[in-house]
Amino acid sequence: MKNILFNNGLPKSVEDGKAALKNLNGNHIQKVIILFGPPGAGKGTQSELLAQKFYFYNLDTSRVLEEKFKNAKPGETIEINGKKYLVSDEIEKRRKGTLCSVEFTAFLMNKRMAEIHSLGKSLILSGSPRSRAEAEIEIPFLEKFYGKENINIFFLDLPQEQTIFRNSNRRICELMHHSILYIPENVGLKRCPLDGSRLIHRDLDNVETIKSRLEEYEQTVAPLEEFYTSEKFSIKKVNADHYVEDVFDGILKELGPSFKVYEI
Ligand code: ADP
Repeated sequence: MKNILFNNGLPKSVEDGKAALKNLNGNHIQKVIILFGPPGAGKGTQSELLAQKFYFYNLDTSRVLEEKFKNAKPGETIEINGKKYLVSDEIEKRRKGTLCSVEFTAFLMNKRMAEIHSLGKSLILSGSPRSRAEAEIEIPFLEKFYGKENINIFFLDLPQEQTIFRNSNRRICELMHHSILYIPENVGLKRCPLDGSRLIHRDLDNVETIKSRLEEYEQTVAPLEEFYTSEKFSIKKVNADHYVEDVFDGILKELGPSFKVYEI
């Protein structure tokens, strides 16, 4: 093999440096991690940890929608498979708290995923696809770009009573909206340990709202699982009823040694 490093370990050129980095971090094969599971299972928490560890792009559906809405021109429509979607209708759905049209959401997601792929990045999805209908549009698209063998799907398993417990006790900080874990050590905490702002409990984090989110989830999860299975994906199940770091370890073990990190 060509020696691309000087004796001091530094690469001989920019190109050699890039090649060395690719060899070292093993991430030259672009990959996808998809997390799904009940509300409160820790998808958001774990996706942030994974993104930091592997330098993956953490793609957030809400952000993709918000960006579109923010820049929408009056009366703007998007044509998808011959059907026109009025952006203002989608904005209204979101304002009312209902889900945006599947085709509309999946169209924007696919567009963004193609951009991320073209930048050479790997990807994490934790809020999408949310239903079988959405998966039927997004997954074939992801397969085309990343290859089926590079798509890793995780189910974060959490008993229903824990979902309700975690969500209804959820506190976030006022300033940067950090989520505070509801663990015995944090119960008496009044201020965010990261930015010092006050901790608040949001009205929407109440038992009734969580139960209705759970009902919606129960209706969508089985068809989503069926879709992944019918498409011959193996779903890796991780017990999410542990401390964050233990759940993270569980995911890392499943990902295996091909997921390497270039640690400086
Ligand atoms: P999801 O994205 O699946 O809805 P989040 O990552 O937003 O879940 O976490 C929901 C709530 O549960 C947050 O308040 C978070 O701090 C807390 N949480 C996440 N993982 C754990 C865990 N392993 N143990 C205890 N609380 C957790």
